[in-house]
Amino acid sequence: MKLNVTQALKNPGQEYPFEGEQTMASQIVSGEEITFDPVALRGVYSATEDGSVTVEGSLSTVAHGQCANCLEPASVSIEADYRETFQRNGDPEDDEIFAYEGYTLDFGKLALSYTLLSLPMRMLCREDCALLKDDSGDDVCLCQKEAPTQRPFAALQQLLTEKSNTNEQ
Ligand SMILES: [Zn+2]
Repeated sequence: MKLNVTQALKNPGQEYPFEGEQTMASQIVSGEEITFDPVALRGVYSATEDGSVTVEGSLSTVAHGQCANCLEPASVSIEADYRETFQRNGDPEDDEIFAYEGYTLDFGKLALSYTLLSLPMRMLCREDCALLKDDSGDDVCLCQKEAPTQRPFAALQQLLTEKSNTNEQ
């Protein structure tokens, strides 16, 4: 997302609203690929006399990955607040600062850093996925329990059992 800040630079101290969307490439986090819905950003920005531009607002997106417990697809809503100052003609390679050139802010780096910071350590398909245990005390995933597994041999097993019972009589 690009934001033209010409007006703000002409009127230092004046706040201007902004909103927009930042698309984000998939990221490898702890060896897992995470994809993201477009990041929605909104807030206000204002410039200072020296040409720095401060942005303050919130962002939201949905991250899609794999459940850390059952490996089923997992989606997690992410929201974050930020307040950052873009330095005019700052070094774009410097990880410690946000920089811009000319009259345009690029929200790519901001969206990426705040989204990754807000990612949960473990993505779960549902909040209680990791907490469930089956009758034997083993951890099971509720989603696996709810989705009836195909057990083509169960019926056969039952037939065999009935047959052996009959033979014993
Ligand atoms: Zn799960």
